[in-house]
Amino acid sequence: MSRTQIGENIHMFKCPLCGTKMRMSGEQSIVCAKNHCFDLSRKGYVNLLLSPVKTEYNKDMLQSRNLIIKSGLYRPMTELLGQLILEHTPITADDGIKILDAGCGEGSHLAQIIDNINSRSNTQITGVGIDISKEGIQIASRDYPGITWCVADLTNIPFTDKRFNVVLNILSPSNYTEFTRLLTDDGILIKVVPGSNYLIELRKFFYGKTDKQEYSNDRVIEHFGDNFHITNTRQILYNMPVDQKNLEHLIRMTPLSWRAADERIQATLKTRLDSITVDLTVVLGKK
Ligand SMILES: [Zn+2]
Repeated sequence: MSRTQIGENIHMFKCPLCGTKMRMSGEQSIVCAKNHCFDLSRKGYVNLLLSPVKTEYNKDMLQSRNLIIKSGLYRPMTELLGQLILEHTPITADDGIKILDAGCGEGSHLAQIIDNINSRSNTQITGVGIDISKEGIQIASRDYPGITWCVADLTNIPFTDKRFNVVLNILSPSNYTEFTRLLTDDGILIKVVPGSNYLIELRKFFYGKTDKQEYSNDRVIEHFGDNFHITNTRQILYNMPVDQKNLEHLIRMTPLSWRAADERIQATLKTRLDSITVDLTVVLGKK
């Protein structure tokens, strides 16, 4: 159960209100030195948001994303990340590798990456996933009880300094101040950003030939370089066959469909899409 995971990793937590260390208070909650108390959910995650946040990532979308990631659409990416983590993380004695996925969504990327590392190495892995979406963390704790899951704000991450050897930031916004604080001195930040052909078939269906189709990740990578020393950049580009029964989930899972006209989405649902392009850039950096 994730609740046990939280107990085992309680020394990593800090109070999001006052910054003091936290401890378990019975089985149901965690509490800081100044008695700020946060309940553990029955599902096994902890909610450390100070006020509830409404995100556009609703339950249906996250459930669609969960199905699509499990179907293997991103497998080449999660395999590469597993390999990069093992290659670039200095393994400190018996301590193993501590990985934070900042913006983990429904958790499947982190779970696949940890599975991949476990298939290659005996190194002890501690996985922690945070996301501002409670619905995402609920799915994550339902499906992957071996990982510590936490609803939290990226601008106020509830863990003490230099806790993680690896921070992952996959198709999600960044907070470089927090990533710098949380990483060990020799730790690595791995960010995954979409390339210009990412899900290009859906862009064409939704937007035709409008400027929304154009996308460049140059500025995002430049901003990474302003904050971290870039040591590796890798391109991942492949086509994955689309199972027709997954087409609706593929459409629902992406924010691309939020801005698309509804008739476009309906029309796309009726088309045949044989394959979908995944185009991602992986940037790896150190402090
Ligand atoms: Zn506190």
